Amino acid sequence: MSKPTLDVTPHPQPAGAAERAALMQNPAFGHVFTDHMITLRHSAERGWHDWRLEPRHAFDLDPGTLSLHYAQEIFEGLKAYRLPDGGATLFRPDANARRFRASAERLAMPLLPEEIFTGSVRALVDADRDWIPSAEGASLYLRPFMIGTEVALPPEPSAAHLFCVIASPVAAYFKGGAAGVTLWVSETYTRAAPGGTGAAKCGGNYAASLVAQAEGRREGCDQVVFLDAVERRWVEELGGMNVFFVFDDGSLQTPPLTGTILPGITRDSLITLARGMGLAVREEPYAIDQWQADAQSGRLREAFACGTAAVVTPIGRVKGARHGFVIGNGEAGPAAARLKAALTDIQFGRAADPHGWLDRLP
Ligand SMILES: *Cc1c(COP(=O)(O)O)cnc(C)c1O
Repeated sequence: MSKPTLDVTPHPQPAGAAERAALMQNPAFGHVFTDHMITLRHSAERGWHDWRLEPRHAFDLDPGTLSLHYAQEIFEGLKAYRLPDGGATLFRPDANARRFRASAERLAMPLLPEEIFTGSVRALVDADRDWIPSAEGASLYLRPFMIGTEVALPPEPSAAHLFCVIASPVAAYFKGGAAGVTLWVSETYTRAAPGGTGAAKCGGNYAASLVAQAEGRREGCDQVVFLDAVERRWVEELGGMNVFFVFDDGSLQTPPLTGTILPGITRDSLITLARGMGLAVREEPYAIDQWQADAQSGRLREAFACGTAAVVTPIGRVKGARHGFVIGNGEAGPAAARLKAALTDIQFGRAADPHGWLDRLP
């Protein structure tokens, strides 16, 4: 099977500068899309084939398409940033490419070669370069994903797949000032169980978390924090963000990657940055009751959530059937602010990139 080559069809009528500027004026997360998309198909007989960059368009899917019934779907999320000199860069796209392969393996899907993943993302950003915002904190969010496309109802791994990348200009995710978000501790629902798909980035994990998110909203909370499925005791993560705790001795702690937590690239980057600042970082379990006790005693100074979409988001309050506490004064703390600045300074090219995380576009 030969390697696919990218077939480029530019949009005949891309959005004009004025239309684009209007659409990019403070867009709500993931509601505005660029002119182009990438598609690539896979079948057992032909391997990866039909690699295309095309005008963005709707798919034509048979109602018997497997992924519509059994959720054989995985995705990624990464961003392209505008640099001070007007250039553009990606942040650790190789890490997303590796995680996409790990997710594919768990969902019994074909493993996309890393260079095709990164080549697709780069080609799309290059074609839609004018869609990378230059507003403070804004970026171009990239959404690679893959679905099983075989038309058949027996619940078996699909024999055909479609990989696709779309792009969406985004403003800063959580608007507003220093106030931290309020989390709802889900006692009714869990996100991931041992042996399940918690470490894979798949749509099914999100589908299963939506009802918990709705419960949290009804309780006046912004996000849900999930506990482990076995003991209902250990803090795992939010629906789409990892979590960190900051203590009075300056040390940090984040739950370990035991298979039920999504291995966040932001999480990994922050661990590296914090250690580089001389801070101790433990990857150890943290119990919800301990979190409450430490917040109340003052031993815990800060907590924050992190992910590509929201970057670093301070946690101000935690509420639940058995819990209710404020962290610090309920506002953004200095450690979260310092780590966020260190990360975004690298991403936006305002600081040196000692770890080689930027993948600058030519
Ligand atoms: C994507 C995701 C994260 C964050 O991962 P990043 O690579 O930092 O964006 C955390 N938790 C879940 C469940 C996710 O899907």
